[in-house]
Amino acid sequence: MGRVALVTGGSRGIGRAIAMALAEDGHRVAVNYANRVEAAAEVVAAIEKAGGRAVAVPGDVSDEDQVEAMFDQVQAELGPVEILVNNAGITRDGLLLRMGADDFDRVLAVNLRSAFLCTKRALRSMVRARWGRIISISSVAGIGGNAGQANYAASKAGLIGFSKSVAKEVGSRGITVNVVAPGFITTDLTDHLPGPVKQSSLDRIALGRFGEPHEVAALVAFLASDAASYLTGQVVAVDGGMAL
Ligand code: NAP
Repeated sequence: MGRVALVTGGSRGIGRAIAMALAEDGHRVAVNYANRVEAAAEVVAAIEKAGGRAVAVPGDVSDEDQVEAMFDQVQAELGPVEILVNNAGITRDGLLLRMGADDFDRVLAVNLRSAFLCTKRALRSMVRARWGRIISISSVAGIGGNAGQANYAASKAGLIGFSKSVAKEVGSRGITVNVVAPGFITTDLTDHLPGPVKQSSLDRIALGRFGEPHEVAALVAFLASDAASYLTGQVVAVDGGMAL
């Protein structure tokens, strides 16, 4: 059955693949973006070309007013959000001794505060409907830590504690809350990393290759489906065996 899905940061990378996968499953998809309107329009066009329904919705997900406006737009154009994917995320890497407070605050705001704002807003209609799916994209860095990413790892670990708590709060309303923790996935986010950093990551991946966005999206689509109805409060790594 088609539902209404909102994918934050759906204009590129993993979010784009999630938007495509949810549309393939028959859901109507709101593709959120921060700045790249052309990229979001391209995702909408790709979904519509494949016979699906999608809209692009702007908004900085760390800003409460913009989140409110985004949800209002989705509700007006597609209906109340039934599947929320907290995917938008950024990095501002650096060793802790050189990390500015601005870089810490911004990463926490975009990666974690966003999930608080969007989840709280989405729950309004999900609680009424007694059905909902909330899926947040964390990272293996949030589980094992990563040198040079204290801010990012803190935000991603925060998503795990946040999601487990919300899972306990809303489970009785038919709403599941889960976390997906990707390893190294080929996107703009990882493109700019220096060669030696990429190689040392590769050395730790059992499958011997980086992941592709669609390999994360397949799990998100499953978690969003009725088939995943008895699965909540979980953290599932999609990392090619990196965390082993
Ligand atoms: P990406 O290619 O850099 O794309 C980031 C997306 O987030 C874009 O759609 C961007 O929108 C959006 N975005 C950024 N700041 C935003 C804001 N303030 N408000 C709304 N949207 C915002 O990143 P990715 O690699 O696909 O990563 C997606 C998620 O997976 C992130 O949470 C990331 O931490 C996580 N992750 C990625 C990897 C990996 O290896 N790639 C591994 C583990 C976890 P614009 O297009 O408008 O800029």
